[in-house]
Amino acid sequence: MSSVAKQLVAVMGRGVLPAGTLVATADDLGFTRGDGVFDATRVCTDTQGNSTIDHLDQHFDRFDRSIAGIGGRAIDRQAWTALIEEAMAAWDVPGEAVCKIMYTNGQETQAGDGPTECLTITEMSVAAMAQRAGVKVAALNRGYAHDLFHDVPWLLGRVKTLAYAVNVAAGREAKARGANDVLFCSADGYALEGPTSALIVWRDEVLHTTPLEGTGILDSITQALVFEQATAAGYDCRYTLMRPEDVLAADAAWLASSVRGMVPIVELDGKPVAQDQELTRTLAAMVGF
Ligand code: PLP
Repeated sequence: MSSVAKQLVAVMGRGVLPAGTLVATADDLGFTRGDGVFDATRVCTDTQGNSTIDHLDQHFDRFDRSIAGIGGRAIDRQAWTALIEEAMAAWDVPGEAVCKIMYTNGQETQAGDGPTECLTITEMSVAAMAQRAGVKVAALNRGYAHDLFHDVPWLLGRVKTLAYAVNVAAGREAKARGANDVLFCSADGYALEGPTSALIVWRDEVLHTTPLEGTGILDSITQALVFEQATAAGYDCRYTLMRPEDVLAADAAWLASSVRGMVPIVELDGKPVAQDQELTRTLAAMVGF
């Protein structure tokens, strides 16, 4: 029997509800069109049931930018903060969990109450924890040129939409290839990001990541924090267009995200990628892992 993750649900205007409560109608645009956005960060809970949440302001900022991208209204931060606090007070599962905040453009055909706004807190999966030791990655073609996203706001580059079916399908393809994660590459051969993570590469004493301009990749909060703190600590940090060959030639490379932290890439398309455990620990500590 497969185990069910512990989860908590909270809805704007309704508060914390029993897990499994239905929060959207069948004509909700998030459900029918993927016309919604989300953000996700880590919650840590001690044995007394006290919880903390990582980098909430940065996640609210990006959530707001994503909502603007789909023509939604600015969030009420006070109301969202209160909802998250209520949810964290009700969450008492010791260990790590993921807080996912969601916003959709509401009902498609019926007169609804405006946007749908809700959150879940879900215990961290065993797979996510295990992957922190390192992942085998498959390079997959994302199907567009690396600079497609200049001046085309309707393509929703850098917007964290709920429409993640391609990202999930890529994960299935990686699994079929014997890998556990994906490095999306542009049709013209540049490394972009993972389906749920940013790419960071350490090569010849320089930390590199994919440039945001034109690539449409998500502006990763983890990557930004690592670059801010690594720069302050004296590391040379650069935004560089890279190819999968650069990852293979690196001294270390990671998929970085708020949920899993700094995950070393140990293999790319079946070929080994060098690792640097000390640097992994240093960079992970910069983002609180
Ligand atoms: N890129 C994509 C497509 C993502 O979905 C995510 C996170 O879910 C990231 C990058 C990493 O972003 P963050 O570090 O803010 O979690």
